[in-house]
Amino acid sequence: MRVTWSGGELAFRLDPEDEITGRAADDHPVKLATNSCHFQDVPADAHPDLFAVAAWTVVAPWTRRRITFDRGVSPEVAAALHDGWGIEAGPVSGTARRTGSVLAISYSGGADSVAAAAILPEAPFVHFKRVSHPRVPNRWTHYRSDVLARLAAQTGRELTTVSSDLEFTLAEPRPGYPEHHAVAAGALLLADELDLGGLAFGYELGSRWLGGDRYLLRFTPDNPMWAPHGAWGRLFAAAGVHIVLPVGGVSEAVTMRLALNSPLKDQLRWCLRGVDGPCRTCGKCLYKELIQAAVEGRPIDTPLSADRPVARKWLQPPPYGGQEMIEYGLARVPGIESSLFGGARRYFEASLESTSWLDHCYPPALEEIPDPWRAQVRDFMTAEVGLMTPEEVRKVEEWGA
Ligand SMILES: [Zn+2]
Repeated sequence: MRVTWSGGELAFRLDPEDEITGRAADDHPVKLATNSCHFQDVPADAHPDLFAVAAWTVVAPWTRRRITFDRGVSPEVAAALHDGWGIEAGPVSGTARRTGSVLAISYSGGADSVAAAAILPEAPFVHFKRVSHPRVPNRWTHYRSDVLARLAAQTGRELTTVSSDLEFTLAEPRPGYPEHHAVAAGALLLADELDLGGLAFGYELGSRWLGGDRYLLRFTPDNPMWAPHGAWGRLFAAAGVHIVLPVGGVSEAVTMRLALNSPLKDQLRWCLRGVDGPCRTCGKCLYKELIQAAVEGRPIDTPLSADRPVARKWLQPPPYGGQEMIEYGLARVPGIESSLFGGARRYFEASLESTSWLDHCYPPALEEIPDPWRAQVRDFMTAEVGLMTPEEVRKVEEWGA
């Protein structure tokens, strides 16, 4: 893979051994659509390692053996690429970037992100905004990135919005981040300007420790995407921008509760379709409605009927993505038996007691937060959420066993 940067434009050329259908770190096959993308209003003079890591978040799935940058990368970043992916990176020159002092939040406006913002009330936001690609037709006009950017601006928080068409480098399965970390590409390019030493993501307990969508139903201490000792964690750290997961120890029930009680609750939006509010009819809206109903102790409120495709999924047997939250909802939502989720009840024996661990914080997640920010998150979790008991910790560590 050969990478060049010019005025916010990232262009890349595949080497003979590279392939146009690759695999992201979550093992998902991704097919290349086009070999360039653009970032608006990013500096041209950031540390070379920041250009390198930002490029890697886009080109990693298609790179097999080596990557050649248009400027030298530090020995530290080259080593992280080699140790994490077996990739030879070069040219190698210069010294590593100094870790900055500021922790920013990669802010999407969803419940997990708003919860992270509640824990870190001083942290500035960096928001990724999808824009169209000049050479790729946009068949996804229902994706209202303009609405999400407007809501982010209404939070009153210090905000940097980075607009990019990088998601259109993906032909299949659909436009999106080639790697989950590509959401941070703009923040990386701005890291010198913002003096970033860490970037906080809204990945919660399910994504970090229970395998998320990838290793359904398996405890994942060595998650390659989000563990600090994983390939991505080490690469970001080598560029002086630590991956920080303020809500990595708590479930989506906790992030929902924190978000609904947050000063930013009026800007909360997890749905990419609605304009004046969530669409209420997509699969994500239905799943979040179950969690919100559980947190608020009220019946499900949805316009969907059971024969709609997004609802039919819940008539199938598990495993499901986010299965821990399905169990949580089944145990708590009044009238769940006559709702769209009624069919799923036969597969679980969920009770308040068996799902109480999802109301508390998994302590090892706090240990992973880098030193300058750990105490603030730990104090918040101790005061506002509560730590898991040893028995609840076992629920996490035996998940899927
Ligand atoms: Zn929706």
